[in-house]
Amino acid sequence: MDLRYSEEYEKFRQAARAFLADNWPPPEDGGELGPRERAARFRERAIECGYLARAFPRRYGGSEQEPDVLRGMVIRQEFGRVGAPMDVGVPGAQLMGTLLEHGTEEQKQRYLPASIRGELAWCQGYSEPGSGSDLASVQTRAELVGNEWVINGQKIWTSGAQQADMIYLLCRTEPDAGKHAGISYLLLDMKQPGIDVRPLRQMDGTGHFSEVFFDDARTPADQLVGKRGEGWLVSRSTLKHERNTVGDLQMYHRHLENLVELARTTIRDGRPALEDPTIRQRLAELDGYVKVMEYSGYRQLTCSARGEDPGTVVPMNRLATTKIEFLVANLGLELIGDSGLEAPSRMPFGDTAGSWARQYMWVRAYAIAGGASNIQRNIIGERALGLPRDFAAQKSR
Ligand SMILES: Cc1cc2nc3c(=O)[nH]c(=O)nc-3n(C[C@H](O)[C@H](O)[C@H](O)COP(=O)(O)OP(=O)(O)OC[C@H]3O[C@@H](n4cnc5c(N)ncnc54)[C@H](O)[C@@H]3O)c2cc1C
Repeated sequence: MDLRYSEEYEKFRQAARAFLADNWPPPEDGGELGPRERAARFRERAIECGYLARAFPRRYGGSEQEPDVLRGMVIRQEFGRVGAPMDVGVPGAQLMGTLLEHGTEEQKQRYLPASIRGELAWCQGYSEPGSGSDLASVQTRAELVGNEWVINGQKIWTSGAQQADMIYLLCRTEPDAGKHAGISYLLLDMKQPGIDVRPLRQMDGTGHFSEVFFDDARTPADQLVGKRGEGWLVSRSTLKHERNTVGDLQMYHRHLENLVELARTTIRDGRPALEDPTIRQRLAELDGYVKVMEYSGYRQLTCSARGEDPGTVVPMNRLATTKIEFLVANLGLELIGDSGLEAPSRMPFGDTAGSWARQYMWVRAYAIAGGASNIQRNIIGERALGLPRDFAAQKSR
């Protein structure tokens, strides 16, 4: 098996490197532009040269390239290496994929170009206090009054709600229809009196997400994506866009290398922790996991490159990366010892102990966000192993 990129892709890599050397970081602008505007300017240039927004037609602000997952991977590696802005991530990316598939021409023209450049920031209003894994049980209501939808209810865990300009929302518009049939997918302006954003403080002291309350919030009737009552179908395409992407496979190697470095520089009983046979054994085990993950990632990538559906390889990789990141962070916390007890928000950024403590807390989210680990296990059990459907899911139909 030859895992090297072919000459064509290595040439493409060199071209991407040359582009980055010329364009990132952008020249000083006298401090007039904020980080979001600077990133938008860079994205504009990268789109012109065919590096970003490759799947989007030119008429909607994309660079309209031939689909090529390997080129996409090279771009992620090279842009990631120098910390340059890439295509906007979830949740904006999900919305854009969905608009392309289900949006009206007016919605595409209006939202795609600015969203692609990152000038228009989105948040995702799916989860509610009683509706997470069982998303179809959403209770937030929208009623068509004249030419407007009037929305009442509550969302929770809404990432980036404080900074977002717009929200895409799943809400119940047909209260008498069945569970999945009564949902619609709406687009709303976040800056309006009927929306109250209350940030949630996380255990690491930061505020990644918020509760969002809707009290007679409004949006025009034409801000419905797909048909009325078919929001469940529309939301499925959103998740498909998220689930089929394979992340930066080198990232797991980098995290493991950082851990080895931490073990090398941590002194325990007068010698580096790396000399402790039990620590070495755990690092060797992790090295095995990371290598297996890399190959499994290539398997997913190869399927996508051939235009085949990677199927249950996707949730399997998701579970594996969650586990690896969890084990790496746990050993990191053990190595930093007592300083891990201090709240990471009180440790300066760049501080090694602070970043390991933060990482230890943050990896818990991987097992929940975008589909909890048990849900991934259910998918593997049902679709790969042919087991009967989950009892709880059957009951909620
Ligand atoms: C970092 C982060 C960012 C997020 N950002 C957003 C966002 O921007 N917008 C948004 O709408 N939501 C967001 N979420 C919410 C996320 O989608 C939900 O937390 C997730 O769907 C799980 O729902 P829940 O929290 O209600 O947990 P629950 O669904 O109540 O699950 C609780 C536990 O029960 C298990 N469980 C549930 N059902 C089953 C089943 N059928 N079989 C077996 N086990 C089951 C789960 O695995 C889990 O362990 C975010 C979450 C995180 C952690």
